[in-house]
Amino acid sequence: MLGLMQEWPLLCHKILDHAALFHGGRAVVSRSVEGPIHRTDYRAIRGRALQVAKRLEKDGIGLGDRVATMAWNTGRHLEAWYGILGIGAVYHTLNPRLFSEQIIWIMNDAEDRFLFVDLTFVGLIEAIADKVPSLEKVIILTDRDHMPQTTLANAVAFEDWIAETDQDFAWKEFDERTAAGMCYTSGTTGNPKGVVYSHRSNVLHAMASVQPDMLNLSSRDRMMPVVPLFHANGWSTAFSCPMVGCGMVMPGAGMDGASIHQLLSEERVTVTAAVPTVWLMLLQHLEKTGDTLPDLERVIIGGSACPRSITQAFQETYGVEVIHAWGMTEMSPLGSMCTIKPEYQDLSGEAKLDLQAKQGHPPFTVEMKVTNDENEDLPWDGKTFGRLKVRGPAISASYYKGRGSEQFDGEDWFDTGDVAHIDPHGYMEITDRAKDVIKSGGEWISTIELENLAVGHEDVAEAAVIGIHHPKWDERPLLVIVCKEGCNPSKDAILDFLRGKVAKWWMPDDVAFVDEIPHTATGKIQKMDLREQFKDYSFPGT
Ligand code: AMP
Repeated sequence: MLGLMQEWPLLCHKILDHAALFHGGRAVVSRSVEGPIHRTDYRAIRGRALQVAKRLEKDGIGLGDRVATMAWNTGRHLEAWYGILGIGAVYHTLNPRLFSEQIIWIMNDAEDRFLFVDLTFVGLIEAIADKVPSLEKVIILTDRDHMPQTTLANAVAFEDWIAETDQDFAWKEFDERTAAGMCYTSGTTGNPKGVVYSHRSNVLHAMASVQPDMLNLSSRDRMMPVVPLFHANGWSTAFSCPMVGCGMVMPGAGMDGASIHQLLSEERVTVTAAVPTVWLMLLQHLEKTGDTLPDLERVIIGGSACPRSITQAFQETYGVEVIHAWGMTEMSPLGSMCTIKPEYQDLSGEAKLDLQAKQGHPPFTVEMKVTNDENEDLPWDGKTFGRLKVRGPAISASYYKGRGSEQFDGEDWFDTGDVAHIDPHGYMEITDRAKDVIKSGGEWISTIELENLAVGHEDVAEAAVIGIHHPKWDERPLLVIVCKEGCNPSKDAILDFLRGKVAKWWMPDDVAFVDEIPHTATGKIQKMDLREQFKDYSFPGT
């Protein structure tokens, strides 16, 4: 017997319809790429997104066509996303921080037909456009007055282009499993792999992510997504905020501490989200200026492990709750958040910080397990670590064009490539990437844990741990450190600081000081390059 409920396809543009109808006047504030702060609301954004949709259709874009965006977080970028997906075309976010060759590869793989681009990146696109034969038109996200001189054929100013139509348009209806968006994984090895989100997966994921134990968003919040829309589906903020009528404050190209602080305080932001490096810059700014964060209630930190010192500074100095989050491009992207369950509500001080170093527990729609190399489930004891596997309706079933099939097993479990343990209350903690974990004498050493501890030292700006070949133990940890400006700690000072905080056999065998640690385009430590840099290194006395 089937249920007797309506078929109401889960389509992303219905989110914006809801926002425009029930939260129509809610502010969406952007630092425009041209400079001034721009204010709009969900009603106006929906109107202009319909205009984009109508204009795209007039230009021959339709169901399944890929339309790229290379843009900062602004209201215009939102209008472009909804305009694209509202006719069944596919928004494809491009990360401008990738090497040009990678961008060319990705655009050709996706066969992007149109591109919405911010003024900042026009030069970048001019240099590569002739290597992307599928690209027919470039829409520069600006108005006529700010339109630059460009060598791009078929370049138009966004405002002129949409002015040629009106808002008298109806979204298209189609199957909820239709592709809505694409994002390529940052791919530290080999070519990037395309992740394809459906309307259904985006809607379900947004519903899961607004829950109280996740982003906890409501119409009373003002969210500033500092995480760019081109990172991992923008952590779903383009859907989760309008879904509940939460105001949005978009930082545009202003990613430095002072610019972020200005918007946080002037727009009275209550919740914000980004990777740890952004928060380091903000905290440095606050320390220098003596500024505070009176309206900010919580900060979501993920993308890489959140150092304990950041959590401590936000909570103890500025009264802002930190929520550590974990996810992946392949998971739409949110997988877990470290909000406090009743079982842990009495924790305080160091014990609470210990808990908050974990990546947390998943929402309904994310299943999780850890397995050994034989694919046997491991116990949830908070210490036995193994391969972290996930499944759910907003998790990739495969990559674009069938790449990377080895990451999916017959039961739909996706191997995240992360190594983790899960505690009896369902809190997961990442201990490493599978390819970075150090295997010493048959046992595993977590590089992330060592790094987190090392950055707690007052002279350390950044730390990375890599495995170096050892004649007896196979591999042993080398701690690589970038010091804070003007600081010059000794190796022994660093090692003394770690001693007693980790098992003896986890202690790094040596410390190396460098000026810079290499990063990927999404801000993660590029361990492959670091291993290459230290390939001729051997420990003293070996
Ligand atoms: P991406 O798809 O580029 O967002 O990368 C996903 C990967 O980032 C995950 O598989 C993890 O290795 C890493 N990651 C994300 N969030 C965290 C976190 N909170 N702690 C540790 N690693 C993280």
